[in-house]
Amino acid sequence: MDDEEKLRAIESRDGSYDWRFWYGVKSTGIVCRPSCSARVPARKNIVLFDTLEDAIRGGFRPCKVCLRELYPPRRRGFVSTGRCAWCEENELLRRYHDEGWCTERHDDESHYEHLVLEVMQCGLSWELMLGKREIFRRCFAGFDCRKVAEFDDSDVERILAEDGMIRSERKVRAVIGNSKVFLAIVAEFGLFDSYIRSFVDNKVLVFYGKQPAESEASRRLSADLKRRGAKFLGPVVLHSHLESFGIVMAHEPGCRKFQEFMAALPENVAFVRGTGPY
Ligand SMILES: [Zn+2]
Ligand SMILES: [Zn+2]
Repeated sequence: MDDEEKLRAIESRDGSYDWRFWYGVKSTGIVCRPSCSARVPARKNIVLFDTLEDAIRGGFRPCKVCLRELYPPRRRGFVSTGRCAWCEENELLRRYHDEGWCTERHDDESHYEHLVLEVMQCGLSWELMLGKREIFRRCFAGFDCRKVAEFDDSDVERILAEDGMIRSERKVRAVIGNSKVFLAIVAEFGLFDSYIRSFVDNKVLVFYGKQPAESEASRRLSADLKRRGAKFLGPVVLHSHLESFGIVMAHEPGCRKFQEFMAALPENVAFVRGTGPY
């Protein structure tokens, strides 16, 4: 695909070229997909980019029309409340959303606590896990990884007898086993946070188009954790983990935090096509 072909694609607004390259408009500093409905600029006013990321690096801002295409609203007729739609169901989810979900965080204590909840969640709802957070905290030594790694059979029995606890011996044993894996990773990488971010080259991934339930990064992470002996941590649950820590930007376009993110756009952002590999 040479420049002439690209320019013709822009002039004919050919949608089949979308996501294959981008064009910036010098006079406005805006970057668009080839088929954008915005007015087609003169050729001398166009700069071509292979990826949206390159364009942003070059000082261009994604066009509003294109962003709407990149991030279509979840439901038709949905009126934005300034938050992600999923969290508006109840106060528990709303608080979870507002108090740091999908915000860049680096502390290993949070990573560990999340991983415990993720193991417990398997087959159940996240909302239920949030409701049981204090029960888990009681059962698992205040989410102290070092203590949990030392748990024995009597601890498993104690935990399974705890009021309101999820009664799955396999999950409880998985949490204990995963704690050992977690400690081994910390010993090797210094921080679990450094380990997990190495799977995305320390970038923040922004998926455009269809939002994936798992990603190439979460699949590699899951395979590596499994190799190290971790259990109940599949690519889907780990993709959610990446979202929780702002490693994958997952706020919806109608959400205030999405707008804030796009306005500030961190240096290390990587735009990734939702249906394609990272
Ligand atoms: Zn556009
Ligand atoms: Zn949000």
